[in-house]
Amino acid sequence: MNITYQSTRGGETGLTASQAILKGLACDGGLFMPAEIPVLDKTMKELAGKTYQETAYEVMKLFLTDFTEEELKSCIAGAYDSKFDTEEIAVLAKADGDYYLELYHGSTIAFKDMALSILPYLMTVSAKKNGVSNEIVILAATSGDTGKAAMAGFADVPGTRIIVFYPKGGVSRIQELQMVTQKGENTAVAAIHGNFDDAQTGVKKIFGDKEFEKRLQEHGFQLSSANSINIGRLVPQVAYYVYAYAKLLENGEIEDGETVNVTVPTGNFGNILAAYFAKRMGVPIGRLICASNENKVLYDFFATGTYDRERPFILTSSPSMDILISSNLERLIYLSCGCDTEKTSELMKALSSQGKYSVTEEMRSYMGDFWGGYAGEEESASVIRSLFEGCGYLIDTHTAVAAAVCRQYREQTGDGRKMIIASTASPFKFSGSVLEAISGSGEKRDEFEIVDELSRLSGVAVPAAVDEIRTAPVRHTRECEPADMEKQVAEILGF
Ligand SMILES: *Cc1c(COP(=O)(O)O)cnc(C)c1O
Repeated sequence: MNITYQSTRGGETGLTASQAILKGLACDGGLFMPAEIPVLDKTMKELAGKTYQETAYEVMKLFLTDFTEEELKSCIAGAYDSKFDTEEIAVLAKADGDYYLELYHGSTIAFKDMALSILPYLMTVSAKKNGVSNEIVILAATSGDTGKAAMAGFADVPGTRIIVFYPKGGVSRIQELQMVTQKGENTAVAAIHGNFDDAQTGVKKIFGDKEFEKRLQEHGFQLSSANSINIGRLVPQVAYYVYAYAKLLENGEIEDGETVNVTVPTGNFGNILAAYFAKRMGVPIGRLICASNENKVLYDFFATGTYDRERPFILTSSPSMDILISSNLERLIYLSCGCDTEKTSELMKALSSQGKYSVTEEMRSYMGDFWGGYAGEEESASVIRSLFEGCGYLIDTHTAVAAAVCRQYREQTGDGRKMIIASTASPFKFSGSVLEAISGSGEKRDEFEIVDELSRLSGVAVPAAVDEIRTAPVRHTRECEPADMEKQVAEILGF
C-alpha cells in the first residue's frame, strides 16, 4: 500500500514520503501527516527477538512506502551502527519496578540521536529519488539536543549544509560545548539572544519566506528541516516503542497482549506523538503520560482544553523541555478533529495571533489516552536522589520529570499497569544538576570536575561524547538577534 502525505493545514496533498522528508515543513506552515497511520503487519510475538534494526525496518517500511527495501535497509544499517555504544541501540533498564527505555546511547547522548542518525540517510536517498540537484540546507532550532545530534548526523554529508540556532544561556554548559566545538565544513551554529520559542519561530518564518526561497534557489540551495516537524524525524522514533514492547515480551516481563503505559518527558511533543503512533499501529499501549517541567503549557492544555502560550518562559534544569509552543501537538489536533484542515488552520492561526486556542469537547475526548502532569525542580531532583539511593540507578533531569509525573499518575489514578518511561538523555549531559541532586554539590564548579565527580560517585564511565569536548577547540562563535536569523543564513551560505 502506498502512503501519501498531506499538510495538516490543507495546502499540500499527495506527496510521497521522500518529498515530505525533503520539504520538512509544508508551504502553508502546516506539518506533513500520512494519509493514514498504517497498522503493523507482524504480531508483537513475531517482533519479539528481532534486532533494533529489523524492528526499525518493520515500522519504517509501512510509512516510507516509496523507499525500496534495499534503500531503507541501507539507511538503517548506516544509522544504527557502532556510533551507538551498545548493540541493542535502545536499552530497557528496570529500576524501582519501572522500565526505563534508555534512548541516549548514540553519539550525542540524547534521544535525538535515535532519529537524527538516520535522517541524513533518508534525506540523501530522498534527494536522489526526486532528482534534486540543489544543495540541501538543514535549518534547525534547538533547545540543546537537536542541534548537536543534527550536526553530528549531517557533518560532511555531501550535498548538505546544516545551520543551527540555539538560545544563548538557555542550554546546559555541556550542550553548548558540544555544539560550538562541532566539526564538519558544512556545519554552522549561531546563538540567538532569545529563548527556544524565538529560535523555532524564526526558523519557521524563514521557511515561509517565498522571497528568500527564490534567492536560495538562485544560489543553488533549498531548505529542509531537522526539527521534529519533519516526518522523517517522527517515523524512526516510532520504532523504539515497538521495540520496547517486543523486548518486554521477549524477556517475559509481560504477557502477550498485556497493556502497558508510557511516560514521556515532553517539550515539542514529538517523542510522545511517536508513542501514540505506535499505539495506533497496534502496540498494546494504554495511557500516554505527558510529563512537563514548569513550562507546563501541555499540562494545562490536557486539563482544560485550552492551549495558552501567554505566560513567562521559565529556564529550568531540563532545558530541552523549556518550550511553550509544542509544534507537534498540531498533528494530534489535526487527528482529533477528524483531519479537518480548516479547523486545524483556524486554531493554529489563533495561536499565532492571540497566543491561544481552545479545542472542542469532542476533540478532547479523542485525546482521552493522554494524561498531562508536571514536576518542578525540587520534585525532579528528589526523584533523581531517591532512585539513585534506592536502586543505584542514575537518571538525567528530563527523565526525572517523567519519573516524578509517573508517580503522580499512579497515585492519582490508581492505574498500576506496567510503565515504560522514556529516558531521554545521559545524566552526564546535565552533570551539574544531577550531581547537585545526589550530593548537593553540583553547582558552581568547573564542568569537567563535576563530570568526573559524577562518574566516581555513580560508578558509570564518562561517555565518550563528554570526554571528547574536554579539549576540543571552539569552532563556532556567531551570535545574533532573533530578527536577524535570515540574514545570518544568507551570510553563512555566502550570498
Ligand atoms: C528534545 C528532548 C525532550 C523533549 O522531546 P520532544 O520530542 O521535543 O517532546 C526531552 N528530553 C530531552 C533530553 C530532549 O533532548
